Amino acid sequence: STAARQKLRIGLIPADGIGKEVIPAAKAAIIALGSDIPKPEFLDLMAGWETFTRYGVALPEETIHALRSDCDCALFGSVSSPSKKVVGYSSPIVALRKELDLYANIRPVVSVAPQAGQQPDVDLVVVRENTECLYVKQEILETGANGKEARATRLITERASRRIGQMAFDIAASRPRKLLTIIHKSNVLSVTDGLFRETVRAVPSLPEVGGIYDGVTINEQLVDSAVYRLFREPQVFDVMVAPNLYGDILSDAAAALVGSLGLIPSVNAGDDFIMGEPVHGSAPDIAGQGIANPLASIRSAALMLRHLGYTKGADRLDVAVDQVIREGQTLTPDLKGTSTTSEVLDAVLRLL
Ligand code: ATP
Ligand code: MG
Repeated sequence: STAARQKLRIGLIPADGIGKEVIPAAKAAIIALGSDIPKPEFLDLMAGWETFTRYGVALPEETIHALRSDCDCALFGSVSSPSKKVVGYSSPIVALRKELDLYANIRPVVSVAPQAGQQPDVDLVVVRENTECLYVKQEILETGANGKEARATRLITERASRRIGQMAFDIAASRPRKLLTIIHKSNVLSVTDGLFRETVRAVPSLPEVGGIYDGVTINEQLVDSAVYRLFREPQVFDVMVAPNLYGDILSDAAAALVGSLGLIPSVNAGDDFIMGEPVHGSAPDIAGQGIANPLASIRSAALMLRHLGYTKGADRLDVAVDQVIREGQTLTPDLKGTSTTSEVLDAVLRLL
């Protein structure tokens, strides 16, 4: 509708730790885009560990409702989770991905400044399944003949594997190299990872797909050797598609290739909603010091805008971020700089 085009309603969920420092930076960068996007309207929403300790609920009903009814998209910061299980608490981001059926987590890792210690020519995307695998979180603890016994359920379904596969093929088909690598461990987990692998492989021959993925080359690699290869020759990868847990681990590993977790954006994507989220966590070791790198969050805003079709705004954010990294004058300590979050934001805003 016209109303929808006049305004862009963005839910902001900074949540915990450095999320509260980097999401406001992303907001400022979006505002600086001016007329390149519809006028943004921000809604501040609550979730996270702090919300739980205050109100006894990690993901308030109001937040879910507001996202569903009043937002076109959202930006999520990061949550601190207790290291031990706390009764009644479970991760709000995992719940949100389920509630909004954000079944894909798309994580591009790109090097722009080899002189600053980034591996040259890294340009890959990790496409992580977002709803199942070990994240169904069905764990039980029993006491048996061997003492305590802990078990976890790992769920892989054809439906989830097919739709993440389709998303990964779409992304691969849109990129110059058109190369998709399926990550699995089906030599050990032949049933679960076997299903994932076979289902993704079969995507191009689905009747509704036609020939649209004909140009995509399909590779596959066991997750352990994929990590090794990622460190030895990251340039060989284009798009990697993986079940939830492997995808999480691979993208943190890939982050190391470009210098910092503080640079890696993501979007959680479903068929009806899109939520940007930096890949990093709440970084309790630096939270509250004003030195968190805001670039992952600004890039997440760009990814979100790109998925909504606002290419010009997305490009402008990416160009500004890349420029700040290339110049190397204004960087936070994770990139061996001495600047603060707000100084890095100011550098981005000046370029915008
Ligand atoms: P969590 O449980 O919330 O994931 P964590 O201890 O695993 O917390 P991460 O946020 O995952 O912390 O970060 C891992 C390391 O990377 C930490 O040393 C953190 O300081 C650093 N780091 C992560 N994000 C950033 C950022 N945006 N800017 C600077 N350093 C960061
Ligand atoms: Mg972490």
